[in-house]
Amino acid sequence: MESYQGELTLTILGSGTSVGVPMPGCSCPACSSTDPRDSRYRASALLQWNGKNLVIDTGPEFRLQMLREKVPGIDAVLYTHHHADHIHGLDDLRSYTFLTGKSVPLYGQADTLEWIRHHHDYIWNAVQKGGGLPLVELCPVAQPFNLFGVDVIPVPVLHGILPVFGYRFGGAAYISDVSAIPVESKRLLAGLEVLIIDAVRYRPHSTHFNVEGAVAMAQELKPKLTILTHLNHDIVHAKLAEELPEGIVPAWDGMRIALKA
Ligand SMILES: [Zn+2]
Ligand SMILES: [Zn+2]
Ligand SMILES: [Zn+2]
Repeated sequence: MESYQGELTLTILGSGTSVGVPMPGCSCPACSSTDPRDSRYRASALLQWNGKNLVIDTGPEFRLQMLREKVPGIDAVLYTHHHADHIHGLDDLRSYTFLTGKSVPLYGQADTLEWIRHHHDYIWNAVQKGGGLPLVELCPVAQPFNLFGVDVIPVPVLHGILPVFGYRFGGAAYISDVSAIPVESKRLLAGLEVLIIDAVRYRPHSTHFNVEGAVAMAQELKPKLTILTHLNHDIVHAKLAEELPEGIVPAWDGMRIALKA
């Protein structure tokens, strides 16, 4: 395959933690904020190049995210891991596959895809005739692979004790759920232009970097720009933006970054 040379756009589809922000029932400052940057769908990103549209994860707001960003089609999904906040919108791939009749490849580590198959058993073992199913194909990956001309590098990291993937493409890496990065994976993250990384809240967390941990990792990996994501309701965007060192910013839903492939 010819390699793609040109612009690649990354859009933050959701910058929120697993319950989203605002959190139903909560009236804390972030949950009652009128700043649109404090409204956070579940963590996900859109990558676009050369007319192709890929999403990283399909969370519960996948359909709303696709409508908001007016995404005309989905050519592939990259999964980070199988947690509910990253997979529960998968069934809404149906609208696209109804229109195209083509199946969408789902990439991820073998364990993640096995969990996805288990959670969506009805897709592979249809119990009734009729009713629409999404057309999808499970594509386990462990090594870098080429997708529509761009090299996609899976970056194995730890989310608590669960091995999950971040992904690197050109100068950007996206690691939404992480609490530790093994040394071999740090090598895959050298020389980044943009690092998008988990910073769930201020207090330490057993399965996510907190703000302090994410900032320390950014200072170690030294990307030109670091964007903090998977944010919970302890985080008020404007306040965190003021507190962060130069070159580190909080994500917001709809944030768009232009990259070189
Ligand atoms: Zn998550
Ligand atoms: Zn709240
Ligand atoms: Zn998770």
